[in-house]
Amino acid sequence: MAAIPPKNLLIVGGGIQGASVAYWTSKISPATKITVVEANDRVAPHASGKGGGFLARSWGDGSITETLHHASFDLHEQLAKEWGLKSYRRLPVLSVGAGSRTFNKKGSFHPAWLDGAGGRVDVMGDSSDTAQVHPREFTEMAISQSGATVRLNSKVIGVETVPEEGGGRKVTGVKIEGGELLECDAMVVAMGPWGPFAETWFPTINVPMEGIKSTSVVWPSREATKSEGVALFCGEDDRYGTHIEVYPRPDGTIYCCGVGGSDYIGSDDLKEGRFLTSGCDPNPQRVTAATQALHQISSTYTNLVPDVTQACMRPCPSDALPIMGGVPGFKNAFINCGHNCWGILWAPAAGKSMAELITKGEASTCDISGFDVRRFGVNEEETRGGRGRKRGSASVGEQW
Ligand SMILES: Cc1cc2nc3c(=O)[nH]c(=O)nc-3n(C[C@H](O)[C@H](O)[C@H](O)COP(=O)(O)OP(=O)(O)OC[C@H]3O[C@@H](n4cnc5c(N)ncnc54)[C@H](O)[C@@H]3O)c2cc1C
Repeated sequence: MAAIPPKNLLIVGGGIQGASVAYWTSKISPATKITVVEANDRVAPHASGKGGGFLARSWGDGSITETLHHASFDLHEQLAKEWGLKSYRRLPVLSVGAGSRTFNKKGSFHPAWLDGAGGRVDVMGDSSDTAQVHPREFTEMAISQSGATVRLNSKVIGVETVPEEGGGRKVTGVKIEGGELLECDAMVVAMGPWGPFAETWFPTINVPMEGIKSTSVVWPSREATKSEGVALFCGEDDRYGTHIEVYPRPDGTIYCCGVGGSDYIGSDDLKEGRFLTSGCDPNPQRVTAATQALHQISSTYTNLVPDVTQACMRPCPSDALPIMGGVPGFKNAFINCGHNCWGILWAPAAGKSMAELITKGEASTCDISGFDVRRFGVNEEETRGGRGRKRGSASVGEQW
């Protein structure tokens, strides 16, 4: 049986999900030594640094993810206060239809900077259950508060395992590209869209996932948007071939995503590490579309060009639900990835639930049973303590 709590936990992936597992593990089990291993030269190099950071408490009501939404929204507010996050605030949300009508600027929450042309404007959220945070600030703070050791420029390419008494296997270390072995007595796969790579380490599991690669854009700070923080969900506009999601941040910058034209990257490419350390570039046509669409609705931004253009990948499992829990057949291995379009919102409660599972053997903050990787099928033969090196007669990669 894996030691509970573990003495030496290794988290693969320095995104917001890995960071949150590190933070909550350190709170529940201060004696656990935690190491976060990241393939790139900084933490949050992908969606956890480049995503929108929009948070909505009730937008998952009635679904299996409802408690993740509720618990996380509340924890975001609590942690933002505790940590003094500058990028967190409650903010209202408007839906803005496409069109050429001059806005009448009379509706609730209508900011002065929304003074161009569009369609009907309606209130989607009054800030009682909508908020925002910069995901990079959250991720960096969670890791720093956890006291974890961070290993950058360290791509994990395999795991070392030994047979476990009573059947199955356990992980004793992870192998870094270049040959180094990092020992551990528990490990978590928090590799976001690259989660499918773990299939080659754990032949018991299937991780069907697409990475949805999207462009996003940030405009320079303006006083108008600093003082009037209102998020906009703008309708599809055929003139630009896009809808846009507009998030003014407390520093006055405007972040914009949902600009259309995403690329869908399949599991095989993700297993090969496509876009992991290079090549995840923005699509210039989508930048132009977003720029034209923002110019249309706001004179504050006429003639202004974005000063950040970027792209990142949303981890989308085949059923669009997160993958959270233990790895069958490997008693000290866990997986926490595939959080799709709510991975920033869900990070606090997902990380806390995973930390409870890892340190106490059971998650209590949220019921995560519906997110178990077993729903995609388990390769039973491999769970019985075989050597775990092959699936059928096929090699499964870097597995000892
Ligand atoms: C454009 C866009 C906007 C979004 N907006 C929102 C939003 O407003 N609200 C919201 O809640 N969510 C939003 N999301 C979703 C959210 O950003 C993601 O769900 C979340 O960031 C996923 O976090 P993660 O830690 O699982 O993955 P990632 O941030 O991708 O982190 C995974 C990390 O693992 C590392 N890694 C992978 N493989 C290895 C390996 N073999 N060895 C070492 N390291 C490895 C990667 O380098 C990466 O840093 C958005 C996503 C996109 C694309």
